[in-house]
Amino acid sequence: MAKSSVLGYPRIGADREWKKALEAFWSGKLEETDFQAKLQEIRLDHLRKQQEKGIDFIPVNDFSYYDHILDTAVMFGIVPKRFAYDGGTVPLSVYYGIARGTKDAAASEMTKWFNTNYHYIVPELDGASPALTENKPLIAYREAKEKLGIEGKPVLVGPLTFLKLSKGYDKSETNAWLDRLLPLYVQVLQELANEGVQWVQIDEPILVTKTSDADLELLNKIYETFAAAVPGLNIMLQTYFESVENYSNIVALPVQGIGLDFVHGATGNIQSIKASGFPADKVLGAGVIDGRGIWKASLPGKLKLLDELAELVTPERLIVQSSCSLLHVPVTTERETKLTSELKNALAFADEKLDEIVLLTKALSSRNAEIIAEIENSDRTIQALQQSEERNRVAVQEAVATLSVQQPERSRPFAERHIAQQDKWKLPLFPTTTIGSFPQSAEVRKARQLWRKGELNNEQYAAFIRDQIDIWIKIQEEIEIDVLVHGEFERTDMVEFFGEKLAGFAFTQFGWVQSYGSRCVKPPIIFGDVAFTGEMTVEETKYAQSQTQRPVKGMLTGPITIMNWSFVREDIPREHIAYQLAYALRQEVEALEQAGIGMIQVDEPAVREGLPLKENEQADYLAWAVKAFRISTCTVQDTTQIHTHMCYCEFHDMIDSIEAMDADVISIETSRSHGELIHSFELNTYKLGIGLGVYDIHSPRVPSVDEMTSMIERALRVLDPKLFWINPDCGLKTRGLEETVASLRNMVDATKIAREKH
Ligand code: GLN
Ligand code: ZN
Repeated sequence: MAKSSVLGYPRIGADREWKKALEAFWSGKLEETDFQAKLQEIRLDHLRKQQEKGIDFIPVNDFSYYDHILDTAVMFGIVPKRFAYDGGTVPLSVYYGIARGTKDAAASEMTKWFNTNYHYIVPELDGASPALTENKPLIAYREAKEKLGIEGKPVLVGPLTFLKLSKGYDKSETNAWLDRLLPLYVQVLQELANEGVQWVQIDEPILVTKTSDADLELLNKIYETFAAAVPGLNIMLQTYFESVENYSNIVALPVQGIGLDFVHGATGNIQSIKASGFPADKVLGAGVIDGRGIWKASLPGKLKLLDELAELVTPERLIVQSSCSLLHVPVTTERETKLTSELKNALAFADEKLDEIVLLTKALSSRNAEIIAEIENSDRTIQALQQSEERNRVAVQEAVATLSVQQPERSRPFAERHIAQQDKWKLPLFPTTTIGSFPQSAEVRKARQLWRKGELNNEQYAAFIRDQIDIWIKIQEEIEIDVLVHGEFERTDMVEFFGEKLAGFAFTQFGWVQSYGSRCVKPPIIFGDVAFTGEMTVEETKYAQSQTQRPVKGMLTGPITIMNWSFVREDIPREHIAYQLAYALRQEVEALEQAGIGMIQVDEPAVREGLPLKENEQADYLAWAVKAFRISTCTVQDTTQIHTHMCYCEFHDMIDSIEAMDADVISIETSRSHGELIHSFELNTYKLGIGLGVYDIHSPRVPSVDEMTSMIERALRVLDPKLFWINPDCGLKTRGLEETVASLRNMVDATKIAREKH
């Protein structure tokens, strides 16, 4: 009989209890013992839920105190030297120090987990001497068994994926590092086997990316070592997010199960199975329920796929599971009371996905009338949404059809625009600016809450926002920043704000997902055709501009970022969703320009997040992403200066696309890449305006003038001084007032020094 399984369950809790506990602990409001108790309660709750729903293989050790990659590093004693740690169990203070930084030591870098919006802490191997500090999977397994009688399936990050995602070592040392880590993995697995663990899930998502022959050798070595050292333990080698490369090599590994994604990368994986077969000695983890999307699955189609797979593999060797960890979706739709029933009925979050998995598993062994009805019902709700007015906005569809066959272009090339813009704006060498947001103080958040509750009326709230703008316009003038911003006080979040004003979006009340650490986001749902319904940012921007002689930069979130930070409909291609958004934003850009705003920033921090994992699909994505940006910005006058901003990410292979966006100025986060970004620009001569962030905004530390001077000088070694801007790494909304003012003052002082020198 087929079995059901889940690859991981969201940590944050239906009410973000997890986030709240972490933050209470950090702020000293929760003692460590109470904190531990609270986290255990949350963890057990999640296990109990899966147990009650009837999941056969319930994951344990998928829970984390921050991030599962950090957990893995810490389990192996991999702690950067700058944190005071000398062996043994890693205390929570050190654990959180690595994640968040301390007053003496900078946090480890964090980066995107494959093509998701989850961020992991990058392990730093340099100087580490790995040793097993505690067997975390074992502890998790015991807990589930003792407290709930669950025969859990411990989840581990696989050695190849772990190594590939780590930094601080030379590629030539990969083998040596593997030799250091393997015995530790073996010890963990042996202890699990001795405890009576039946199955472990070892995650190797790296196998969906390009694998070299050398990687494959490492892979063989890893799993041969495990098979020899822990023969009694069943290993589910789990992949996700795409189809695997080198299918034949992977299924030949001496493991007992192979987990494949049949949602993202379904075509490739199915083709591989059909072409090469599936080994008779293994079980197949069939990831048919989307662990990343929020839509109800069309279950008849899923069942058909499972039937096909069952024929190739036999039903006994089939495990029905989520395509990846459910970490990437919200907890439950149950508490959503404000969505239309048409939409709500078409949604499935983590808990609803558990039901889908269980139902499909049942259907594989007995197809009675009740089960069939339930399966068929899932399609009806999707069809109902399909017929809705929101999915059939003809005007938008026609406009986008026209736009998508044109090449959006500014009227003149950058070199000419640059001259016209210099002529108009007369900016000094190394103009200074900020990225958009200023501190969202408790006062700002309070006012917004009161307004949302109706305790402040629209006029009172608008007056409050104007006061904030006044304060910050004065501060910016006093610090002598050249290009000002209004501060984004009216926005909670750079996507939600626009989503609330555009048609085609819906908002959940509790649809949170973890982004990094305790930070959660509540992505809007783009469920219909997107349409501009009225000005979104003009009022505040225009007001700010009326208070100063200096230029105020308008501030919008770009089409690709809005799309990549939302959950989107799946009935039309993402490309078309991007164009719909771009078309709506273009109308806002034009409205700003009409209102006399001559610099407009269209933020695109999330372009990289949508980059397909498969290299052969990347160029196409980048081309339409660039096109969407250009659709939204290309209709302005030559003298109107279009800015864009991107947060930290790897740019080395994207510089051409960034250039093709044709923004007059781009600001990019630099500090946390430890110079790697500047290195990316070394080989290229970037020809448009560019500001490389000169200080890290993720910590309250005030950087010195000297530090910023050296950042500036380093950048000027590779960039044209005439095109260089000076700005912080990113928006300042999470910072406090004092540190922000002090940092910006130092930034302007460093700018003055640079101006004298160059
Ligand atoms: N304009 C936004 C801000 O300053 C940009 C934020 C971002 O890039 N994530 O907050
Ligand atoms: Zn940013």
